[in-house]
Amino acid sequence: MSPSLVLFDIDGTLVRRAGPQHRLALIRAVHDVLGLDTTTDGVPLHGMLDPDIIRCMLENADIAPSDIDAAMPAILIAAEEAYLATEIPDIRDKRCPAVPEILDLLAERGVAMALVTGNLPRIGWRKLERAGIHHYFRHGGFGGMAPTRGGLTKLAIADALRDGRITPGARISLIGDAPQDIRAAQENGIQSIAVRTGVTPPGELEACGPDHLLEDLTRLDLSILFG
Ligand SMILES: [Mg+2]
Repeated sequence: MSPSLVLFDIDGTLVRRAGPQHRLALIRAVHDVLGLDTTTDGVPLHGMLDPDIIRCMLENADIAPSDIDAAMPAILIAAEEAYLATEIPDIRDKRCPAVPEILDLLAERGVAMALVTGNLPRIGWRKLERAGIHHYFRHGGFGGMAPTRGGLTKLAIADALRDGRITPGARISLIGDAPQDIRAAQENGIQSIAVRTGVTPPGELEACGPDHLLEDLTRLDLSILFG
């Protein structure tokens, strides 16, 4: 049982500039289910959950909310299938600085780790596999499992407590590159650690008041992860 749990966002935190395949899978999924050509242009992808991105794409195409709700379950499945059917290149060179070294250090110290990401589950796992870091993780809150990132965080924490991977008083931290990651941590009363390895414009992370703001994970002082 670990005294600490560290929750990691994926895009902009563990890997960055991973390629267009994820975005294209969402577009393909909408086309496969609704026969509709849509775009992610004008959708603020950064920090968003995959189902919210799809909802935005459909709203921009003037699809009625009730029709979006009806189609969403099939689109989410189609998006995972479209991604898995795509040739995903080796993205080990797209890992953020200090990944995987920091994951090795945490694993050596027995720190519990999990994912909190807007990626749909099978997309997130496949992406991490192509980045060569999937084996550090077995648990996570993924897009589609809860309506908000705060909800995904709550799920990941509850999961770790239920499995006995952490004790009830464990120090819990969420590391992410977007304002949404900081807010998710704050909503759950856990430590927020923001990294500047994503595409968040200067000033936006500070404005959310994270507990710690780092240039990248090479600056992570491991002692802040322990109570
Ligand atoms: Mg991110």
